[in-house]
Parts: sequence; C-alpha cells; structure tokens
Amino acid sequence: MTLRIAMLSVHACALAKLGGRDSGGMNVYIRELARDLARRGIEVDIFTRWREAEDPRVQELAPGARVIHIESGPIGYYPKMSVYERLPEFTEKLLAFVKAEGRSYDLIHSHYWLSAEVSRTLAAEWAAPRIQMFHTLGRVRSEVMDEDADGENAVRAGIEERAVAESRAVVAASEIEAGELRTLYGADMAKVAIIPCGVDPEVFRPVRQLDARRILGEDGSKRLILFVGRIEQIKGIDVLLRALGLLYARRPDLKADVRLVVVGGALSPHDDAPETDKVADLRRHVREQNLESSVEFVGSRDQRDLALYYASADVCAVPSLTESFGLVALEAMACGTPVVGTRVGGLQTLIEDGQSGMLVPPSDEQALAEALERVLLDPRLRMHLAHGAREAAEGYTWQRVGDRIADLYRRILSADAAKVEG
Ligand code: UDP
Repeated sequence: MTLRIAMLSVHACALAKLGGRDSGGMNVYIRELARDLARRGIEVDIFTRWREAEDPRVQELAPGARVIHIESGPIGYYPKMSVYERLPEFTEKLLAFVKAEGRSYDLIHSHYWLSAEVSRTLAAEWAAPRIQMFHTLGRVRSEVMDEDADGENAVRAGIEERAVAESRAVVAASEIEAGELRTLYGADMAKVAIIPCGVDPEVFRPVRQLDARRILGEDGSKRLILFVGRIEQIKGIDVLLRALGLLYARRPDLKADVRLVVVGGALSPHDDAPETDKVADLRRHVREQNLESSVEFVGSRDQRDLALYYASADVCAVPSLTESFGLVALEAMACGTPVVGTRVGGLQTLIEDGQSGMLVPPSDEQALAEALERVLLDPRLRMHLAHGAREAAEGYTWQRVGDRIADLYRRILSADAAKVEG
C-alpha cells in the first residue's frame, strides 16, 4: 500500500531561496527528505504558506512530492507572529484544499512550532497520527538570546510542550536536542527518535581550492575564513567579527593575508529590504573595527555555489549561540574544509574536537580567535582536520535520514493497525 504523508511546514517553503529571511536548514531538510521519501514510493504533499506571488499553487518537487501553497492573509512575507495569528485561516484553507482534491493522508509530519497547532487540528479532523520535529526549541533559544525579538516566547513554549505531549513521535536531530526535549519539555523518551540530518554528497564534495577560487573569482593568494548562514544574532556572526579583530591584534601580519567571506543575507533592497538592513548593520560594525578591507559580504548563494565557497575556504567558522544540528558545518566537512564551531547543540555530536574540527565555547571571541589562528597557521593540523571531517561526514546522507523516517512512519502505522485488529 502506498503511504501518503501530509508534511506541514507553515512558514518555511521547500522551494524558497536559502540564506535569506527565515530560510535555512529547515527548508533544506524538508526538500531533501520529501525527495528521498518520494524516490522510495512514499507520496508527500508539503503544505506551506503562500509567500511568493510568482509561485504556483501546486508545484511538483519531484515525482511523488508536491509543494502546495496555502493562502493565509495576502500573499507576501510576514513576521512569525503574524503567521501565527493567521494559523486558523491557514488550517481552514488547507482542509478545504484537501477536501476538494478528495485526498487522504496516512500520517501528518509537522515541522517547527508554527506547524504544530495546525497538525493538532488536522490529526483530530482526519484521525491520523502526527509526528513532530522542532528544528529549534523556543526554551533553548530564549536561554541564549538577550531579548524576545520576535515576541513569541509566551506562546511558543506552550505550543511546543503540547506538541511534545500529544505527538506520536518527536524527531530530534541530535542526542543533545533529545536531552533538551526531556529536561525542558518533559518528553517521554520512548517516543523521541534521534535522527541526525544529512548532506548531499553529489553537491558537497571536495574541489581543489585553487579551482574553486578561480570559478568564484576569489583571490587565490590569501587565506580565507568562511561564514555561511542566515544573518541573525543566534548565528554568532558578531562574535566572529570580534574574533577577527582580536586575531589581527595578536598577529598584525595576518591582516594582509587573511580575509573573511560572509555568505548569507541580502545585499540589495530590491532583493529583500529588511535583510539588507541587517547586512548594513554588520558593515557598520566592520567599519567601526577597521576591518573593511578584510571582510566581504557576498549575499545568499545557491548550494552549488556554496560548495565552491566551502572548497575555497581554509576554515569555516560556525560560531552559533545554539544549533539544533548545524547543516553548514556538515556541508563544509563533506567538502573537506575544517570547521571551527561552538560547543553547542548538534555541533558537539557532529564535530570531534581536534579530529574532525575544533570546538570552542559559544560567545567567546578569544577562544574563537585562537582556534582560527591555529587552524590557519598549522597546515598539518588543517590536513588532519580536513581528513577527519570528510570521514565523519560520510556517515550522514539524506538517504539514511529517509531510511529512518520511513521506518518510523511504518512503525507508527503498524502499531495503529495492530490496535485496530486487536
Ligand atoms: N544556505 C544556502 N545559501 C546561503 C546560506 C545558507 O543554501 O546563502 C543553506 C546551507 O547550505 C544550509 C542551510 O542554508 O543547508 C542552513 O542550515 P543550518 O542548519 O546551518 O542553519 P539554520 O538555517 O537551520 O539555522
């Protein structure tokens, strides 16, 4: 029997441009998982909010996997709390769409807190089991952030707690996240499945550094530190800029020899005005620290280009304050680029300190500067870490994620079938 899954991702579209506002690892995860499940004959419909006017209502992602855009309020970008306020409308329109098509679903797989409430209503309406993955947890996030910038803390944690209690299974990307689900949300560990994320080895693979730099038109002679990600405080980019300042203060000779390239965000208001403001803020920061000649912002790039940036870099910095998994680190590792990351969340399980990368405490620019200096100046260490990184990354593929998720679906559905027969 063909399984059919309703995948819910209210605010992150599997087709969205990556590296911009609210578009990152979760979009990649849903896209890659849906493709893999479809390849193995599991049909997937991904329901997401209609955000881009030029997107069609229904778009095929791969044979057997569709993205279905659902209106909730006028088409366009909304901050997360406005998306939240319109969830009842989203749910109603989704139900109407499904009814009109006459489809039914065996299971609901929901992503992030914003989808959890929709999942709850659908599960009751369709009498279908639901599974949940959070990608980031509100209580973990609020522990490391100064302020509740999105104004979501009050509602988010309650919704997450309820989803943990009511879902048939909760997927955690790492043991650390599983522990957080237990201690911060009281999760019953019997229903937490630890399934790490994956990487596409066809896209993220080693390329000779000079070749990659030539294709990108990057300077071939200087050493390069790379940052990739959404331009958000939680990604620690300001810590990295301070670390770069410290590195130059300790080793003034490196100023002419080491550059930082920042991939992510938007450079033009035509592309995305608020994102451009964030990059403009960082540029101010860079000017204040006299780092203009050493830092380049290249905006967000697609993953084929990104692979070339990883290959061009001598080291990839992942200075996040928290990270449920950390796809950027895994992608860099798959390209054979050593990572200096923070000892937080999934990065701790992904990187073995001194073997497949280096780990430093979060928000510690001093430690970050020292680790970057070591990796940049010690070619033997760099080769050792590059080798370890490649080897470690081999264990993580989307196919393996698909195997484990498909197995989880089957276990839940056969337990239900046994109950009905019993
Ligand atoms: N990404 C991209 N282009 C960019 C910046 C990021 O394609 O300009 C992708 C990157 O390849 C990775 C994802 O966005 O797959 C970021 O995932 P990660 O888990 O590192 O962070 P998140 O966004 O989930 O916090």
